[in-house]
Amino acid sequence: AAVAQRLTSLRRQTLSLFRLKEEQLQLVKARMRSGLDAGLRSKSSSTIKMLPSFVYLTPDGTERGKYLALDLGGTNFRALLVRFKKQTSRLYHKIYTIPLEIMQGTGEELFDHLAQCVCDFLDYMGLKNTRLPAGFTFSFPCEQSAIDTGTLVAWTKGFKATDSEGHDVVSMLREAIKRRNDIDLDIVALINDTVGTMMSCAHEDQRCEIGMIAGTGTNLCYMEELKNIEKIEQRMCINTEWGGLGDDGCLDDIITLYDTEVDQNSINQGKQRFEKMTSGMYLGEVVRQVLLDLTRRGLLFKGHVSETLKTPGIFETKYLSQIESDRLALLQVRSILQQLGLHGTCHDSIIVKHVCLVVSRRAAQLCGAGMAAVVDKIRENRGLDHLDIAVGVDGSLYKLHPHFSQVLKETVRVMAPQCDVTFQPSEEGSGKGAALIAAVARRKR
Ligand code: ADP
Repeated sequence: AAVAQRLTSLRRQTLSLFRLKEEQLQLVKARMRSGLDAGLRSKSSSTIKMLPSFVYLTPDGTERGKYLALDLGGTNFRALLVRFKKQTSRLYHKIYTIPLEIMQGTGEELFDHLAQCVCDFLDYMGLKNTRLPAGFTFSFPCEQSAIDTGTLVAWTKGFKATDSEGHDVVSMLREAIKRRNDIDLDIVALINDTVGTMMSCAHEDQRCEIGMIAGTGTNLCYMEELKNIEKIEQRMCINTEWGGLGDDGCLDDIITLYDTEVDQNSINQGKQRFEKMTSGMYLGEVVRQVLLDLTRRGLLFKGHVSETLKTPGIFETKYLSQIESDRLALLQVRSILQQLGLHGTCHDSIIVKHVCLVVSRRAAQLCGAGMAAVVDKIRENRGLDHLDIAVGVDGSLYKLHPHFSQVLKETVRVMAPQCDVTFQPSEEGSGKGAALIAAVARRKR
């Protein structure tokens, strides 16, 4: 019995590394706030880049016509045709996978591949001879100098194509299309997915002035006041790139050795530390690192380290969603683990479930603390005691995980008591939102 108790207490110690106290979350909020402010003052020296989007307006419902939306952001490339009529919009789309060798090949190959997909889509829609206005949703940090120009700052989320960083991605796409010589596009806007998400929700709800993604990566945009800078009463949407919080070491007091291991195994070491604790591409890996450590210390799976457990990427974030589901009985958890090649007792299943719970809860709390910093900043910007605001949200982690959205909401409620924040799952942010931005951009030309 004494041995069992000792084992339990060792496991508890490990899990407690992920349990953040309210004071710690307050610190994260404060650090996010300093990061946002520092990024607005000077982009170059801040871990949070605060990139201008050149999107000033939210849609006003007068958008009409046919638009193409091209979406590269995570695992897939999507081509969409969006058609706005009086009160409605219709959408047609096709999904194209991006092979790993293209994600990590040359920039030219990557953009040629995208142009090939666009050509296929236009062909499929019977629109190959039409010159459509297009919005290009490109969800990596870009330093924009206009609505339709942006230099890639750095790849994230597993992309690593050469000769792209430091280049204008709209030109790269235009050139790839020109090289083919069989299609024509009028690319009117470069769009971050957070901004598209905000726009698609703003179409339904005027209060929506924030866009957030919790999918492969994590990011957020919000409407910032320009008056301090340009003496005009206007707002521009800022793409924060908040996933970079902690890249200067400011989160080292909460980063665990498991997070460090995940960072070391990634292709962008030392970068996007906040993202690596909060998003779909990494949460499964964090869990796997904990399971590996517990097993090596004899606290799980009878100390038997299987080949499966040693395989990177085997424990995808969707398994966290399955395992944490309240409807699932323990035997079902055990059977999921068995299908993954992780054979253990029911007691092992309980431990695995606990690990998943603490890792995903921490992710949602960290995003909540960050969101609290953003809404309080907007509230202070406007000199308000109370702010009523809506957030458009997208991403599989937000939409499919059984607890993430609830914990996020609850954390924001506690940490930003002067703000009333409504979360709205976005429908087709990167499609409809991108088309709306393209429509607004074209109207202004
Ligand atoms: P993207 O962010 O690439 O546009 P998604 O929002 O679909 O696309 O996010 C994909 C990420 O979501 C992947 O990292 C994947 O691991 C994760 N994911 C997929 N299904 C689930 C799920 N059921 N629960 C939690 N995460 C999931």
